[in-house]
Amino acid sequence: MSGTALPPGSTIGIIGGGQLGRMLALAAAPFGYRIHIFAPDEESCAADVSAQHTRAAYDDQVALAAFADSVDVVTFEFENIAAEPLHALDDHAPVFPPIRALEIGQDRIAEKTFAQDCGGRTADWAVVDSRAGLDAAVTRIGLPAILKTTRFGYDGKGQARIRKAEEVDAAWEALKEGGTLILESMVKFTQEFSLLVARDRAGTIAFWDAPENVHKDGILHTSSVPADGEVAQQLPAARALARKIAEKLDYVGVFAIEFFCGPDGPVFNEMAPRVHNSGHWTIEGSVASQFENHIRAVAGLPLGSTALAGKTVVMTNLIGPDADRWAELAAEKGTHLHLYGKGEARPGRKMGHLTRVER
Ligand code: AMP
Repeated sequence: MSGTALPPGSTIGIIGGGQLGRMLALAAAPFGYRIHIFAPDEESCAADVSAQHTRAAYDDQVALAAFADSVDVVTFEFENIAAEPLHALDDHAPVFPPIRALEIGQDRIAEKTFAQDCGGRTADWAVVDSRAGLDAAVTRIGLPAILKTTRFGYDGKGQARIRKAEEVDAAWEALKEGGTLILESMVKFTQEFSLLVARDRAGTIAFWDAPENVHKDGILHTSSVPADGEVAQQLPAARALARKIAEKLDYVGVFAIEFFCGPDGPVFNEMAPRVHNSGHWTIEGSVASQFENHIRAVAGLPLGSTALAGKTVVMTNLIGPDADRWAELAAEKGTHLHLYGKGEARPGRKMGHLTRVER
């Protein structure tokens, strides 16, 4: 393995310039790797802690090729990018995770179909591409249900709940401009959890403890390990599915799958082909964090230990004005405060997170 690993001083290119890129860059530094960020934004909290920043559109082929020529490996931290231009990068530098994983993860239809093909259970779903199609889907799936955009949705955006027939019109009006839609049955879950999975270039797979996740207004609020309730019983089936997915995609890097604890076992909700918010607790709560293991995997190093480094770990997101309490939080002994260095604390914007580890 060490023969193919990137030596210190190598440069890892990251497409995307947000907090995930920032935490990847911080995790790459101890290995002596340099980071080059590719992102269109003038302000990039990832570029703030990286050696280089190419500021160009995600579909600018010329800029992407020059970027790939300047790095030793390319990875991504953002999935709402066109996958097509990335295929051409392979001639310039290796790209990990596989672009196929990105294509699947950014489309709810491809994602659910793939999960089902791998033997996973999903909510009942139907493709909706017209108003009449929505009526047909409601008849088939029943209510309550959730209408979602199939692409570019995140943090609960691009979703409308339909509890009763009178709400169908409003849901359609809210999302009809969003391209192809999907109607999902409402899963009667007891808990939500996610799997954080790492796979290295040699094919070794490692799981961290599965956090129980609580969302508020569609945005992740807390991730806690160990998860209580039914998560432990549902974990083997969920992990078996994740293993299949990782192997089928010949995945390299870290990915996350969000599950519901359903009445008959785990229900696959969605997958993110990248490091994930529900894995931020691993920075202080496990021996090697999700960010470290993603860097290790794409750089050709073996994975670090995913063992828990405490009795309990709770990660809480700081959304919008939550981060105004930074001084008070920074004064709390034993609380690990992470601020992403973003400018304006707009409502709903992820400004930072805190992690409390009980040792
Ligand atoms: P998503 O963007 O698909 O992860 O949805 C955000 C959140 O909405 C999830 O974490 C759940 O809390 C809720 N949700 C989404 N889809 C469903 C569903 N089919 N049944 C019940 N709750 C859902």
